[in-house]
Parts: sequence; C-alpha cells; structure tokens
Amino acid sequence: MPAGFSSICCNVSDAGCARSGDQDLDAAVIGAGPAGLMASEALLERGFSVELYDSMPTPARKFLLAGKGGLNLTHSEPFENFLERYGPGRARLEPHLRAFGPSQLRDWAAQLGISTFVGSSGRVFPREMKAAPLLRAWLRRLREQGVKLHSRHRWVGWTAGGELLVRTPEGEITVAAPAVVLALGGASWSRLGSDGAWVPWLRQRGLAVATLRPSNCGFEVEWSEKFRQRYAGHPVKSVTLSHAEVVRRGELMVTEYGLEGSLIYPYSPALRDEIEARGEATVQLDLAPDRTLERLQRELALPRGSRSLSEHLRRRAHIEGVKAGLLRELVSASLEEDLSRLGACIKALPLRLRATRPLEEAISSAGGLVFDELGPDLMLRRLPGVFAAGEMLDWEAPTGGYLLTACLATGRAAGVGAANWLSRARAAAPERADNKSGGQPAGGRS
Ligand SMILES: Cc1cc2nc3c(=O)[nH]c(=O)nc-3n(C[C@H](O)[C@H](O)[C@H](O)COP(=O)(O)OP(=O)(O)OC[C@H]3O[C@@H](n4cnc5c(N)ncnc54)[C@H](O)[C@@H]3O)c2cc1C
Repeated sequence: MPAGFSSICCNVSDAGCARSGDQDLDAAVIGAGPAGLMASEALLERGFSVELYDSMPTPARKFLLAGKGGLNLTHSEPFENFLERYGPGRARLEPHLRAFGPSQLRDWAAQLGISTFVGSSGRVFPREMKAAPLLRAWLRRLREQGVKLHSRHRWVGWTAGGELLVRTPEGEITVAAPAVVLALGGASWSRLGSDGAWVPWLRQRGLAVATLRPSNCGFEVEWSEKFRQRYAGHPVKSVTLSHAEVVRRGELMVTEYGLEGSLIYPYSPALRDEIEARGEATVQLDLAPDRTLERLQRELALPRGSRSLSEHLRRRAHIEGVKAGLLRELVSASLEEDLSRLGACIKALPLRLRATRPLEEAISSAGGLVFDELGPDLMLRRLPGVFAAGEMLDWEAPTGGYLLTACLATGRAAGVGAANWLSRARAAAPERADNKSGGQPAGGRS
C-alpha cells in the first residue's frame, strides 16, 4: 500500500469524475464523535493527513448532549475495578484502556486546558461540567493540526471498487484513502447522528455484527392508571434494588411507562437478557434500606392507636409519597393489615419488568461489530486498511464515564493502528511514495 495514496473525491454522477479532494490524503475517518475525533488526532500527531466526514451539520452532537447533565468523562476508582466494569468486553478493551485510561484521559483534557475534578461518587468531570468548552478546544487543536472536517457528508457504503461512497448536499462522491477509520457510534438518539444504518453495510461485506440492543436503558412496568397519573415523574430516593444477587443503592425515576434512573441502568445487560429469554424479569426493591427487617417489623408492631395505616407507615418506617404508592401498587390489599408480612414486602418488594425501553431512547447501545473481526490494532481482518472504534464495537459498560473512556481509548488505538499501517505501507513501497494516483483504497475488493 503506497503512502500518500491520492484521495479521489469526485461527484459520482460526473462522467469525467473531476477530483475535488486532497490529493495526498492518508486517512479518511468517518464519524466525528469522540472516537472519530480521537482517531483523527492520533493520525495527525503522527504526521498523516486526515479528512473527517460526518453526516450531521456539526460534529460530536451526542458528546455535547452528554455534557448537558454534567459530562462524566471517566472514573477515579482503582484501575482493576475500573476494568471490571466492562464485563465480558474487558479482555478486548483492556490493552486499549491500559494505553489510554482514566489518568491519561485526564492529562489529555488538561493539555486542552480543561481541568477535571473527582466528584463524591468517584466520577470525573470537567471543572465546568459541560462538554462544549472541551469540544471547542479539541476542534481548534485538530484544525491547527490540519484536519479537514466535512459535515453533512454521509458515508453510505462502498463502491464496487472499494472506495467510500459519500452522500453530500451536492450529490454523491467517492473517497479513496489507504487508511479508513469507521467511528459511527451505536444506534440510540439517532437524531444526533448515530443511527446504526451502517450495520447492513458491514454485514454485506461479510462482517459479523451483533444486533444493536439498548444498554443503560429504562424498563417498562405495567402501572395501574391511578399510580401512573399520580406518580409519573416522581423520584424514588434512596432505595436498594436487587437482581441476581447484585444489590445497589440509589435513585429511580417513575415514568409513564415504567422506571428510569442511574440505579437501574447498570442492571441493563442482565435484565435485558432475562426479558429476551423469559419475556419478563423481576427485581426487588428495598424501600427502607436503613432499617433491618427485624427493626422494621418491631417498629410496625408498635401500637397504632386510631392512626390510619398510611400514617403508621409514615411514622414508623418513613414510607410515604411515592414509596407508599409503590407499596399499595405492588402489594395485594389482603396483606395490608398483616404488618409483619408488610414489613417483609417493604424490604423486598417484587417489581415485574415487562420490556426494555426502545434502543432509540437508551444512553448507549450493546452489540456492534464483533471483536473477532478485528486485529489487536482494531483493523478489520477482512478489510485491510479499515479500522473501527467507539460505541459501534461489541462491548457495553455502565454509566460513570466508562463509555466515553472506552470510546476515546479505542479511537486512539484505531488511529495509532491506522498510522502504523500507513507507515508500514510507506516503508514497504518507498519507490511509490511520489506516485499520488497509484495503489488501492483501504478495504478495496481487488
Ligand atoms: C443522554 C446521554 C448522556 C450521556 N452521558 C455520558 C456521560 O456522561 N459519560 C459517558 O461516558 N458517556 C455518556 N454518554 C454516552 C457517550 O456519549 C457515547 O458512548 C459516545 O458519544 C459514543 O462515541 P462514538 O464516537 O463511538 O459515537 P458517537 O458519539 O455516536 O458519534 C458517531 C458519529 O458518527 C456519525 N455518523 C454515524 N453514521 C454516519 C455515516 N453513515 N456517515 C457519516 N457520519 C456518520 C454521527 O453523526 C456521529 O457524529 C451519554 C449518552 C447519552 C445519549
């Protein structure tokens, strides 16, 4: 593969195929989210030219949205615990996270002028909490390094000759580059650009892609009309949730259709898989996590006098508002006067989940391009010169900064891999280095 392979960027409908792109293009990066930007940076730092294509009018829209409620960049827990959060994906991600993990990420942000801090939960945020200042500084640096960003340029697959086919406002063009990085994201919040349309295009090239499924998602519960009307939008504060012997404490949000919130999101893989297998999953809520069952039963057994049951529960167990609503919703009326059994229900209230909310609404996607298709440098084994990174790969992780860290780490690894590929090609074919029109595009068929 020759270095400096020419980028042929032409209007496909033009019979003469006039060139309009950079004649010395080394790498085309598709997707200007965190993974694609990081891949571009790694290539630029190593002296390679990069053209970056994104279907949206502006880059990194999901990253900007992630910054709305406080951009959780990474996590400060011990690295071994950090790695464990990636579950079955750990083995494939570990080398990339070792090369670019939480501490490298914080140093990298600092070099962009963005200082970070560790919140009380151990999560790491930029001092200003938002994504916009970081993105602005990052794009400025990338432009200084020479990146060419093409917005409203949607990659739609490959031509028969293996060039990238790109739809622009002016029509379709083809792009040929000796190295290509795909960083197309998952398929949630498609209005921000990542719509998963790439899945069939990769499958058509014989690549295995695990079906994209919701991760860090809400779940559906069949609420009664009365409960829904009264409590939709109410937070359920400080409860524990257990499922399959995993117990966590936190907050839930009752919604029109079920439950959302940081407490239930980490259970997404297990609950989603159970619902797919059995049609439903049951979790247990502890509405009074600060009291043992014995203490609760003792307090509930105290004389109630003329007080109503609701008042008794409020006084003795601090069960009121949405917690009392949940108890009424999920416990049969016949149990209500059996205070000992009611105490047991408060400590382990079974809640049946019927379905995950749609992928479109999820924070992230599970599934994606399977790692067996990729070499250790994230190059596609079947498409030499084509690399892939970010959420489009088959891994999932909970919220807490793990998503962005792995997207940036794999983006960097794919960029470094592509740079090494280009260097090897340059070394192998020095005599062709000046031949700007020779060679073959990455992933070409011939
Ligand atoms: C509400 C919300 C909050 C979040 N908060 C956090 C958080 O605080 N911390 C955290 O770690 N993670 C968070 N995430 C997740 C995080 O934002 C994503 O995991 C991350 O953005 C994925 O990066 P990526 O580069 O792989 O893909 P994306 O950011 O999805 O970028 C993919 C890019 O590819 C472009 N693209 C797609 N297809 C094409 C095509 N065919 N042609 C051209 N361009 C294309 C898209 O337009 C997009 O710009 C949050 C997500 C959501 C939805």
